[in-house]
Amino acid sequence: MPARSVWRFVNYTINHVSEDGVTWEIFCSTYGCEGSHIADSDEQCSDWAMRHTAKTGHALFRRSCSDHARVTRG
Ligand SMILES: [Zn+2]
Repeated sequence: MPARSVWRFVNYTINHVSEDGVTWEIFCSTYGCEGSHIADSDEQCSDWAMRHTAKTGHALFRRSCSDHARVTRG
């Protein structure tokens, strides 16, 4: 007797969860430097980077922004 299977397709959506905020991170890219900063805004990270450059001369950074997302059915 052949096996039978039933496939059910359910739609999901994913959305930003605003109440959990957004996190900005910036990391100095100069070899050997471990300077970094985490904040709630891009402005705070940019201020830190400019102060870091003024203090060290390091001018290249990697930035990232992350948020929370929730998946819901339907
Ligand atoms: Zn640095």
